[in-house]
Amino acid sequence: MDKNLLNQTIENLRKHGFDARLCRNQDEAKTLIAEYIIPYGSVGMGGSMTLRQLEIAQLARNHRAKVYDHWDPKLNAEEKMDIMRKSLLADLYLASANAISADGKIFNIDGNGNRLAAMMFGPKKVVIVAGYNKIVTDEKAAMERIKNHVCGLNAKRLQKKTPCAESGKCMDCQSQDRICAITSIMERKPGLTDMTVIIIEEELGY
Ligand code: SF4
Repeated sequence: MDKNLLNQTIENLRKHGFDARLCRNQDEAKTLIAEYIIPYGSVGMGGSMTLRQLEIAQLARNHRAKVYDHWDPKLNAEEKMDIMRKSLLADLYLASANAISADGKIFNIDGNGNRLAAMMFGPKKVVIVAGYNKIVTDEKAAMERIKNHVCGLNAKRLQKKTPCAESGKCMDCQSQDRICAITSIMERKPGLTDMTVIIIEEELGY
C-alpha cells in the first residue's frame, strides 16, 4: 500500500468537498458506518462486493434500519425494481466506488444507473466505502481499472456473454449483455448531497 497516494487521495477528496475518512481496517470502518446508520430509519444499498464483504446489510438491520437491498436473492424481478426505486429516496445510501483517483475524483460505471442516480441526489446522506485497492493516480488509470479489471470480473460474476467476461479486457462491445452503459465522474461533492467517503486500508471488493 502506497501511504503517500492514500494521504494525497484523502487530502484532495476533502479539497473537493467530500468528507473523506480513513479507516485502518474493516472493524474500524464498520464502527464508523454504524454511526451513520443509527440516526436514520432507512438504508439503500448499491450493488457492491465491498458492502457484502463488510456485511453491511446485517449491520444496518442490527441497528433496526429498514434495508433496501436489491441483491437479496429471494426477490423476484418486480420486487427488485421496487427496492431499487425505494433506494433512491432512502435516508442513507451506501455504495462503493469503482475507482477513486489521488487527485480527488470518484469514478463509477453502471449498466442500469440505479446506483449512480442514488449516489448523486435523493438520499439525505450518501456514504461511499472503498478498500485502498480502488485508489488510482488519475482519470486515465481509473478508466483503465474499470474497463480492464472491474467490468470483466462483474461480467463473469453475472455470467454475461461479453468479451471482458472471457478475456478481462474491454472491447467496447455491442453485446446485448453489455454491463457498462453510464459513466459518472464526481469531480466535486454533488451540491445538495451530504457525502462521506470512507477509505479502508485493506483490499476489499474489486
Ligand atoms: S463495453 Fe463490453 S467488453 Fe467493454 S467493459 Fe463493457 S461489457 Fe465489457
